[in-house]
Amino acid sequence: MGLELKNLYDDFRDADTIKAYAKIIAEDAKKLTHPINIMEVCGGHTHTIMKYGVLQLLPSSIRFVHGPGCPVCIMPKERIDHAYVLSRQPNVILVTLGDMIKVPGSNGSLQDARSKGADVRFVYSPLDCLKIAQENPDKTVIFFAIGFETTTPMTAALLDTVIAQNIPNILLHVNHVTVPAPMRALISDEACIIDAFLGPSHVSVISGSKIYEEFPRDWHKPVVVSGFEPVDVMQSISMIVKQFIEGRCELEVEYKRAVTREGNLKAQALNDKYFRQVDFRWRGLGDIPQSGMGLRDEYDRYNAEKIYDAILPKEEINDHKLCICGDILKGKASPPQCSIFGTACKPSTPVGSCMVSSEGACSAYYKYGNLV
Ligand code: SF4
Ligand code: SF4
Repeated sequence: MGLELKNLYDDFRDADTIKAYAKIIAEDAKKLTHPINIMEVCGGHTHTIMKYGVLQLLPSSIRFVHGPGCPVCIMPKERIDHAYVLSRQPNVILVTLGDMIKVPGSNGSLQDARSKGADVRFVYSPLDCLKIAQENPDKTVIFFAIGFETTTPMTAALLDTVIAQNIPNILLHVNHVTVPAPMRALISDEACIIDAFLGPSHVSVISGSKIYEEFPRDWHKPVVVSGFEPVDVMQSISMIVKQFIEGRCELEVEYKRAVTREGNLKAQALNDKYFRQVDFRWRGLGDIPQSGMGLRDEYDRYNAEKIYDAILPKEEINDHKLCICGDILKGKASPPQCSIFGTACKPSTPVGSCMVSSEGACSAYYKYGNLV
């Protein structure tokens, strides 16, 4: 029998191993002097926690808060409005990734723009824009780039190819963000209820574990860089609990199978070539200095935001007054605490972005909380 992809994951989803970790954590947790609030920064971890019933396996002294780790959830309406306006320009094909197409801006979503005749497409990889541009030489393809450190190198690779092959009809609208900046902003908030972080492994595959060194050192918050399978998550939780009972505060890597301290230097160099750190406004969190990655000035001729500057809306827009996405992104509230969770707001009629993205905390609670 040949090795199938699913076999590679089997050990990391093994029920006996998960239960064994649950037992270790329960024993260790008895020695805790206070409950610990762990922020899983990434929506991917939120889904694992909800999907595999991790919450039910843990003692009540281990709590989770859901962080700002989904590029769709944190996208402010202003930026979605940019995409909407761009998509409505003549001879423009607006291309983006996955769930972004469903998130409501102030005029509607990209899906709505499409129903009004705009050519909006989604792709699995930024490089798919090359084929679209080649097949539509008389159109301008604008890639609405989103994502954390994991996807930024793919956008950089797209621009690298556009320049190398002198492709005339691809522009970028860049909305890349970084993970450490919002973590820093959150723990600077006096109402912060975070004791430790579960760091997303895919980000560190690119950026290395070094990006989290400041958190135990300067902020006294332990970080464990964790994989996304349930055994990874259980092991990481166990590592965090052990740090507390042993009086340690460290950066540790659970996902050693692909994470090094330095990360992928080639991808980092590609990022540095095309992007620089810029201020970015986060949905629910507001303006966070140097938390985004914008195109360097020398690439202005590929920058849709500059080229179409005159027609792009500039005003800042508040979220729906009943939506508490901001508090969820800050770890101050859990989805069921929202007054319209599961009623006016559900995946078929999302009010806030945490319900739209399949990685959103509200979506995870809705999907795995026996509500569907
Ligand atoms: S349930 Fe909907 S409205 Fe409420 S916080 Fe979640 S996304 Fe926002
Ligand atoms: S609520 Fe949204 S932004 Fe926050 S972690 Fe979950 S998915 Fe990410």
